[in-house]
Amino acid sequence: MKAPAHISRKRRRTAPLVLCLLLLAALAGFLCGRTPRSILPGVVNTGNETVIQPKDAWQLTLVNAKNPIEGNPQIELTELRNGQAIDSRVYPALQRMMDDARAVGLRPLICSSYRTNEKQTELFQNKVASYLNQGYSVEEATRLAAGWVAAPGTSEHQLGLAVDIVAESYQLLDEQQEQTAEQQWLIENCAAYGFILRYPTDKSDVTGVGYEPWHYRYVGETAANEIMSQGVCLEEYLGATA
Ligand SMILES: [Zn+2]
Repeated sequence: MKAPAHISRKRRRTAPLVLCLLLLAALAGFLCGRTPRSILPGVVNTGNETVIQPKDAWQLTLVNAKNPIEGNPQIELTELRNGQAIDSRVYPALQRMMDDARAVGLRPLICSSYRTNEKQTELFQNKVASYLNQGYSVEEATRLAAGWVAAPGTSEHQLGLAVDIVAESYQLLDEQQEQTAEQQWLIENCAAYGFILRYPTDKSDVTGVGYEPWHYRYVGETAANEIMSQGVCLEEYLGATA
């Protein structure tokens, strides 16, 4: 049966509109599905894999056991008063953080920052040796050491973007460090200066590194605020693995 003339006319008029709405809905769905990853600075979601773009995002460079440092990066360093050094681009933020901590009566001490590959090798071998002395096999000693000292090429200290900060009154690198007023202040305030507590206690299975309430990593203020407020680690933030 032929439809009445007025219905046919109405269908002809509404068909393009319905098509447009369907296309808009499909586009919106597509964009929403892609948004969470693609808005991260320096990260591009290409569908199945997430590509971290080092360009324009030097401060988000991921270094861990599965993402070793590539090549021999040339880092412009600024030397600190105690002989330590840090990437020059990070120096102003670090200086401000240290100055502000001291201004409220705290006494933070930078005990380690930039390390050469030789220095990292020495630290790693010392840790392996300590396990060998306890009677572990070479394989076991190497595996255990890697849980505490990053193997050469896999430490972000070699990037010049990480600092170990302790309280002057308590300089041991152990869990008690988090009880010091210095760490409490740093954990609370580091994001405002672009730093994150890199190896939180509840993220060891993701980072592959034990709890280090003294190791701060520069990632820039935007990423630091998001990471610290969301309670994620850098691997999770970048959608990567350790
Ligand atoms: Zn460290």
